[in-house]
Amino acid sequence: MRNKLVAANWKMNGDFSALAAWVAVMKESVPEEGGAQVVFIPPYPYLRAAVDALCRTQIGVGAQDVSAHVSGAFTGEVSAGMLLECGCKYVLVGHSERRSMWSESDEIVAAKFEAATKVGLIPILCVGECLEERELGLTEKVVVGQLNGVLDRVGPTIFGAGVVAYEPIWAIGTGLTATPQQAQEVHGVIRSRLAACDDGLSEKTQILYGGSVKAGNATELFSMPDIDGGLVGGASLDAGEFAKIANAA
Ligand code: PGA
Repeated sequence: MRNKLVAANWKMNGDFSALAAWVAVMKESVPEEGGAQVVFIPPYPYLRAAVDALCRTQIGVGAQDVSAHVSGAFTGEVSAGMLLECGCKYVLVGHSERRSMWSESDEIVAAKFEAATKVGLIPILCVGECLEERELGLTEKVVVGQLNGVLDRVGPTIFGAGVVAYEPIWAIGTGLTATPQQAQEVHGVIRSRLAACDDGLSEKTQILYGGSVKAGNATELFSMPDIDGGLVGGASLDAGEFAKIANAA
């Protein structure tokens, strides 16, 4: 039985006072035990404050990106080791905004995934198709291609240290959520791809859904057999709304 996981991706939003308010609400609303694993993913400058504020809770902290490099002359980059030292447990890799706006290829995403696992961070690998690809019937090809990009580099054992998030790009920040059936179909494809490597890998890997998850649609999405929780953007900025989503998982 896989545990549920719900992650709050703040993207480039928030400030110290919003963080303090968010943490206060979450501490009151999310159970210490027995609920879903909750992960808070604020921008880099707030990571340390988030780790300190959440230290006696079950809520973990993650970063939104990581360098594929260990150290050196890479101005503006942050290494996996630095994130770990800061107290992070998780890191997003291959978010569609990074893939499209910063031209991150499958090779770069795979290298970041590997860099994260090498220090013991849990990478959350984001995959998903754009609207045009869905309309052309290419969803499965695109998503499996993105998975293969990482699986081929790191192999099933290292892949098993991570989490997958299926985020159809047409549903991110648009208010258009995939129906639970549409999401389940792709989650099923992802799980079959993992089963083709190794049954244990497919059974244990958490596969999250992301794309306009809200309190109003979370319960139905999370009730699908292959949806193990959510990666939440916009709705995670409102702590009350996000707590409802976390408690729906
Ligand atoms: P959204 O974003 O919930 O605002 O659609 C999800 C994401 O980009 O992770």
